[in-house]
Amino acid sequence: MHKYPKNILTLIAFLKKLPGVGNKTAERFCFDLIKWKDSDLKSFGQLLSTILESIKKCPICGCLAENEKCHFCDLSQRDKTTLCIIASPKDLYLIEETNSYNGIYHVLENLISPMDGFNIDDDNIKKLENRIENLKIKEVIIALDSTLEGDATALFIKTKLKNMDLKISRLAFGLPIGSSLEYIDGGTLAKAFTGRQKF
Ligand code: ZN
Repeated sequence: MHKYPKNILTLIAFLKKLPGVGNKTAERFCFDLIKWKDSDLKSFGQLLSTILESIKKCPICGCLAENEKCHFCDLSQRDKTTLCIIASPKDLYLIEETNSYNGIYHVLENLISPMDGFNIDDDNIKKLENRIENLKIKEVIIALDSTLEGDATALFIKTKLKNMDLKISRLAFGLPIGSSLEYIDGGTLAKAFTGRQKF
């Protein structure tokens, strides 16, 4: 590695920050990138340098948005009586791909981590309660990973919402214990959705 020019080493170090990319893969990506057309590399660099400013967080649900609010919060298009609680905006795209859900979403950002003492942002829970009340939501689906953190968070939310007139369900059927939604194929996730259980 030490024989590479400095910028190549830096590029490899950046690429290695990506999940699942080790030394060998980072080197392969790097040597591929420097073969790209100059104009493509410039566009890529330009996009990277402005990506955070161009993508906004929807102030209502916390999903990614290009405009003031995301189109998943467009109540003329979505079933506003059902709300699905997810841990991260990326889970929304996994669920959308299953075509088994047409309700609205709420992103938690982080889960309760009993080991690290992480808690959920109070303001976000307040926002969630307000949405449920204002929209007269009938069902809340907790679509969190089947992990220690997911379980602790699901229980916390269930306790928080227990006095509201709601059906609370959680994805269960088909989800392997200890699994993350990210690594589950669309078919299994679709099944987990339709087979959700009262929680
Ligand atoms: Zn939204």
